[in-house]
Amino acid sequence: MDNLPNGFTGFAHLPNEFESAGEASRRSRAATAGAAQAQHSHSQLSANHRRAIPFTEVELADPRPGDGRWAWAEIDLSAIRHNVAQSRRLLQPRCRLMAVVKADAYGHGIVGVSKAAIGAGADRLAVSTVAEGIELRKAGVNAPILVLAQPPRQTIPHLLGYRITPSIYEPDFAIAYAEAADLHGMMAPYHLAVNTGMNRLGVRHDEAIEFLHQVSFHRALELEGVFTHYATAECAETLDLQLQARRFIDTVDNMRTAGFDPGVVHAANSAAALRYPSVQFDMVRLGLVLYGLHPCPETRQIAELRPAMSVHARITDTHVLGVSEGVSYGLHYRSPGSVKVCTIPVGYADGLRYALSGNIDFIVNGRYVRQVGAICMDSCMFEVDLRRSAARERIDPQVGDEVVILGKQGLAEITVDELAGKLMTTPYEITTGFSSLPKVFT
Ligand SMILES: *Cc1c(COP(=O)(O)O)cnc(C)c1O
Repeated sequence: MDNLPNGFTGFAHLPNEFESAGEASRRSRAATAGAAQAQHSHSQLSANHRRAIPFTEVELADPRPGDGRWAWAEIDLSAIRHNVAQSRRLLQPRCRLMAVVKADAYGHGIVGVSKAAIGAGADRLAVSTVAEGIELRKAGVNAPILVLAQPPRQTIPHLLGYRITPSIYEPDFAIAYAEAADLHGMMAPYHLAVNTGMNRLGVRHDEAIEFLHQVSFHRALELEGVFTHYATAECAETLDLQLQARRFIDTVDNMRTAGFDPGVVHAANSAAALRYPSVQFDMVRLGLVLYGLHPCPETRQIAELRPAMSVHARITDTHVLGVSEGVSYGLHYRSPGSVKVCTIPVGYADGLRYALSGNIDFIVNGRYVRQVGAICMDSCMFEVDLRRSAARERIDPQVGDEVVILGKQGLAEITVDELAGKLMTTPYEITTGFSSLPKVFT
C-alpha cells in the first residue's frame, strides 16, 4: 500500500464514528483489495500510455459555448442593433451617440456588442479602463474610444499608442500626457470631466476655467470634449438634475467666453437622454437602453426596447424525492413528495446571487418551475411537481433539457427587473453579475 504512486494509503485507518464496527472492517478489507488492484492497474495504465493515440487538434478544439459547460448567456445582437436604432430616433438631429460598453458591455461581451452598436450607427465607444480600450483595438474596432475616468499615469503610452482618449481632471496628468505625446510627435486629445454635483469625478464646475488656463500652454494638448455626469437622471425628482445642467451650461459658456473651444459637449446617460432632450447637447452616452433595459418607469413610455441578454442552462442531474427529503446545503428546503428535483450548473459564482435562494422561478418547457434549496457556488436546484392535475399538463424534465434562468421561453418570461427587484438592486448589477458565463451571440 505504501508504494502507491501518489502516496495515498486509503481511508481505512481513519476512525469513523458514524460507522458501525462491522461496516468499518468491511470497508477496511475493501480498501486493501482496492489498493492491490490500483497497483495492478497502474502498471497497465503506463503500458496503455505508450500505445495511446493522441486526440486530434480538431477534437481538442475549445468546445462551443454551451457545449463545454451546460450554462451560457445568449446575447441577441439584433436586439442591440434595434435598441441603437430606437434610441437614435429619440436624439436631436446632429446629436452623436456614444455606446457605453464598460464592464464587458454590462456583462454582454464588449467586442460583440461594440461591433454591433457601431454597425447600427453608434458613433463612439466609452469604456472605464484602458485595458478595455486595448481589447477593442486588438479586436479591430476603429471607432473613437473614451475612457470615462482619468487612468493611471502608467497607461499614457497605451493611450497614445492605441488611440484611446482619456478623461482628465488633474493638471499634472494632462501635462504628463501631453509631454509623452510631444516626444512621439503626436497630439494628446482628451475630454475634460466636470463635476457639477455628483461628486464622483471631475474638476469642480467653478474651477474648470482655471484648469484650462493651467494646462492650455501645452501645444500637444487638445481639448476634444467636455462632459459631466448626472446623479439623479433616473429619479422622479428633477430639481437636482436641473441644477447640475445649469452649472454645466454655465461652465461651457464661460469656457467659450474665455476663448476655449469646448469641443464635443456631452452630459446625458440613458435616463437623461430619453427624459430630457434639452440636455442631449452634442452627444449622449448610452449604456442601459442599448442593452434593452429601462433606467426608470418613465422611460418605458418613451422607447420600445428589446432585452439583449438571456441566461440558459441544461439539466445535469435529477432526483425524485419522497416526502420531507431535503435539498442543498442546510437542507432548508423539504420535499412535499412526488417531486423531481433537477440540478443546473449555474450558481452564485456565475451571478445567480445566493440571496435569491428559494425566491425565484426558472422556465422549462415554457412553464415556470420553482428554484428550491440554497443556491450553490456553481449549481442550484429546482423542483417539478410530478402529480397530474386537471389544471395543467404534467412535465417530466430530463438530463440535458434546457432551462431558462433569465429571458423568454414560450409565453413565460423572467426579466432583469424582476431579479433586480427581488435583490433590491439595479438592473446594471444583474447583467454585470452574469459577466463570467460563456457567451453565445445570436
Ligand atoms: C455608465 C455611464 C454612462 C451610461 O449610463 P447608462 O445609465 O447605462 O446609460 C454614461 N456616462 C458615464 C460617465 C457613465 O459612467
